[in-house]
Amino acid sequence: MRRALIAGAGVAGLATALALAKSGQEAVIFERATALEEFGAGLQLSPNATRVLASLGALDSVLPLATAPRAIRILRGRDEAALSVLDLSNAAARWGAPYLVIHRADLQRALVELARRDPAIELRLGTELVGYGANADKVQATFKRGLLTMSEAGDLLIGADGLRSKVREKLGLGADDAPAFAGRVAFRATLEAAALNRAASAPVVTLRLGPRAHLVQYPLRQGAYVNLVAVIEASWRGAPPGHPWDGEADRPALLHAFAGWSAPARALIETPRNWRAWPLYTRPALPSYASGRVALTGDAAHPMVPFLAQGAAQAIEDAGALAQALAADADTARALAAYSEARAPRASRVQREALAQTRIYHMSGPMALARDIAMRGLGPDRLLKRYDWLYGA
Ligand SMILES: Cc1cc2nc3c(=O)[nH]c(=O)nc-3n(C[C@H](O)[C@H](O)[C@H](O)COP(=O)(O)OP(=O)(O)OC[C@H]3O[C@@H](n4cnc5c(N)ncnc54)[C@H](O)[C@@H]3O)c2cc1C
Repeated sequence: MRRALIAGAGVAGLATALALAKSGQEAVIFERATALEEFGAGLQLSPNATRVLASLGALDSVLPLATAPRAIRILRGRDEAALSVLDLSNAAARWGAPYLVIHRADLQRALVELARRDPAIELRLGTELVGYGANADKVQATFKRGLLTMSEAGDLLIGADGLRSKVREKLGLGADDAPAFAGRVAFRATLEAAALNRAASAPVVTLRLGPRAHLVQYPLRQGAYVNLVAVIEASWRGAPPGHPWDGEADRPALLHAFAGWSAPARALIETPRNWRAWPLYTRPALPSYASGRVALTGDAAHPMVPFLAQGAAQAIEDAGALAQALAADADTARALAAYSEARAPRASRVQREALAQTRIYHMSGPMALARDIAMRGLGPDRLLKRYDWLYGA
C-alpha cells in the first residue's frame, strides 16, 4: 500500500484523498488552515465532475445538498432579451451524470465527512507544507505546525495547494510561471432568496451578458439562498495577498459596471451588502503535472478563469485519473507520468477555452450584436452540443 502525502484540503485535495483511498492507497492530507471554514460561494458542478464523484461513492452525500438546475438561461444584460435557453432537464441522460449547483462549503463538508470516516485517510489541519525533497524511493516533505517544523515520508507527494502552490513553486519553473492577474475581478455574494423576488429561487442558472461584464445567478440550498457572481474588467488596486478573498468588495466600481443594465440586473447588483471581490489569476498551461514522485492537481496544476465554471470540476477529474493511474502501475513515478498524460492536454484545453470565453462574454458594440445573432441563430440544441466534449468526457 502506498502512502500519499497531499498538501491542501480544498476540493482537489479531498477528492484526491477519497479517490486514492478507494483504490487501496493511504492518504495523509496536510492543510495550512486551522479550520475548514464556511468559505467560498456557489459552484456549478458539471456532469464530468459528478460522474467522478459517483465513482468515488461521494455523489450520494452531495446530492441532498445540491440543486439540479433545469436550464441555463442566457440573457442580454441591458434589456433581458433571451439569447438562448439551454435545457438541462435531461443532463443525466445526455452526459451520464447530473448537472448540479452547490455551495462550496457544503461540497467541502461532504467530502471532509467522507474522508473522516475512511480509515485510510488522515486529515491534519494547521499544518503547512514548506518544502520537500524526493529520491528514487521516497518523498520527504517538511511541514510547519505553529512553531514546530516536522518531516514526513511518503511514496508520493500531491500538490493540491491551490493557485499559489508551494509544491509547484518548488518545481523551479521560473518567473514566467508566476500567477498573472487576468484583468478581471469576480464579485461574489450569497443572499437569502427572500430578499429578492420569488423567481430567484427557481432551479435555473441565469447568465446575463453585457459590455465588459457578466452576471451569473443561481439558487443554493433548496432555493433558500441565491448565489451571484458578477465579473467585471478592472485593474486590481489592492495588493493581492496569498488568500483569494480580499476583504470587502469595491462596491462603487461594481455599481458603475452595471449602471446601464436592465432593472432586474441592477436590483441583483444593488441588493447584497456583502459582496466580496476575487481578483482572477491565470498561470501558464503546464506540459506536465508530474515530476518523479511529485504531482499537481486542481488549481495548483491548472488554475483557470471561471468562465466555463470548471476549476473544481477539473480538480475532481484529476482525482479520478490520478487514482486510476496509480492503481494501474506499481511504479509510482511512471504512474504519475501516466496521470499527467491523461490529464494535461484536456485540462490545458479547458484553461484555454475558459480564457477565450472571457472575450465572448464581455463583447460590446457590433461584436456583441454579432455574438447575439450567432447565438440565436445557432439555437439551444447546437449550443449545448458544443459542451459535449466537456461534460460528456
Ligand atoms: C468567481 C469564481 C467562480 C467559480 N465558479 C466555479 C464553478 O462554478 N464551478 C467550478 O468547478 N469551479 C469554479 N470555480 C473554481 C473553483 O473554485 C476552484 O478551481 C477550486 O475550488 C480549486 O480547488 P483546489 O482544491 O485546487 O484549490 P483551493 O480551493 O485553493 O484549495 C487549496 C487548499 O490548499 C491549502 N494550502 C495552500 N498552501 C498550502 C500549503 N503550503 N500547505 C498546506 N496547505 C496549503 C489552502 O489553505 C486550501 O485549503 C470558481 C472560481 C471563482 C474564483
